[in-house]
Amino acid sequence: MIIINVLNAIYALKFVLQGLFSQRRRRKSKVEKYDTVVIGGGPAGSIAARTIAEKGFKVLLLEKRQEFGRPVRCAEGVSKKWLEKYTDIKDKWISRPIKGAILKSPGGKKALMQYNESDRGYILDRSVFDFDLAVEASESGATVRTKNRVERIERNKDSFKIYIEGFNKYIVESKTIIAADGVEGKIPRMLGINTILDPGDIEFGLNYQLEGVDINQDYIEMIGGNELAPGGYVWIFPKGEHSANVGLGVLASRSTKEKNAKYFLDKFVSKRFPEASISKVVAGAVTVAKPLKKMYGNSFLIVGDSARLSNPLTGAGIGNALESGALAGETISKALEKNDFSENNFKEYQKKVMKSVGNTSKKFYHIKEAFIKFSDKDIDDMITLLSQVDPEKLNLKKLLTITFKNNKEIISLLKKIVF
Ligand SMILES: Cc1cc2nc3c(=O)[nH]c(=O)nc-3n(C[C@H](O)[C@H](O)[C@H](O)COP(=O)(O)OP(=O)(O)OC[C@H]3O[C@@H](n4cnc5c(N)ncnc54)[C@H](O)[C@@H]3O)c2cc1C
Repeated sequence: MIIINVLNAIYALKFVLQGLFSQRRRRKSKVEKYDTVVIGGGPAGSIAARTIAEKGFKVLLLEKRQEFGRPVRCAEGVSKKWLEKYTDIKDKWISRPIKGAILKSPGGKKALMQYNESDRGYILDRSVFDFDLAVEASESGATVRTKNRVERIERNKDSFKIYIEGFNKYIVESKTIIAADGVEGKIPRMLGINTILDPGDIEFGLNYQLEGVDINQDYIEMIGGNELAPGGYVWIFPKGEHSANVGLGVLASRSTKEKNAKYFLDKFVSKRFPEASISKVVAGAVTVAKPLKKMYGNSFLIVGDSARLSNPLTGAGIGNALESGALAGETISKALEKNDFSENNFKEYQKKVMKSVGNTSKKFYHIKEAFIKFSDKDIDDMITLLSQVDPEKLNLKKLLTITFKNNKEIISLLKKIVF
């Protein structure tokens, strides 16, 4: 563990110094030129940069924060299938492996969902996970810089001029751009894509890492209820012995100055875990929107949360960030091989993303819209029905069918998603 920490510290220093010294060097010499600049060093950006660097192209990964992965802005739950697809899973990323979910209603009804092997998941340590993905991008040949924020983008005839503010202000030139700047990012707007969200399509998320909690460390807990988390739900994710990520999302359209995410989380925690202490606070927005209608343009692509790709029902976005980042990396690499960065050529990216995760997200959006209309009694009734199903047989398909059994429109949508 000490060796890992020392290595991470060396990499962190390297990424900051790369930012600092490259800027000094550049003031004396001419402007640096790249095939691609990836803006944002979350999972989407790091995977995209790694994919392009592996093909031998010149790529720059820029992150505005001092260190990749910190501060964490996530409850850290992820399905095993995504990690397996894009990484060699490392023990140090995993806080807890997860066997299933306990679903609870506001009235205290309970249903157990036992994941089968392929549905299993993990609670990550994202500070280590995100950091390592950036290290992988660097080791694949990408130039990686922290504390470098993109302030402005100017389009020239065949390239972009990217204005960066770090220790100093400087400019780089790039043939292409990947916007991987997350939920609050402004890069798509700089490139002419409107990403403004309706208050019904964004949640305020708040998560406390609690110490001194006594929960089943093999299962996540999800609790619905209009008085608990209006428009969202409460999650309890195990983080290791006597530790858990406890948080909730509240739909912006249902949040008020007084009754906001903090109000609801404090209320829940004081009742359920009165003795616990808070060791970490994580706050951030979660998109529960449809994917962007257009996540590409002439010489650029948009990935991850920036493309509104998190699941609108659960808010989970790590998996779709990895998937879209990899697809963007492949698309840009092919375009660089052909020297064709036209909008027409990048249409392919949108099609691939929609086919792999976007269309499902779009359907989950309609399910979310139906779910947020549920009364607390509806949720109680739903969990009562679910509790009668054998936990080994309770899967997403069964859960959604029972939940929406009287809603023909949603059932027909579900048929297209999971049946
Ligand atoms: C409270 C909370 C709990 C969550 N829990 C879960 C969960 O349990 N499971 C799950 O799957 N998802 C969860 N999510 C969502 C998840 O965190 C995101 O979907 C995921 O991080 C998206 O990855 P990304 O790479 O697209 O963006 P991000 O991880 O947000 O990365 C974007 C990066 O871009 C950087 N950036 C922004 N602008 C610039 C700029 N101008 N220049 C340089 N850098 C810039 C940012 O600093 C940031 O590091 C949660 C979110 C919140 C807020």
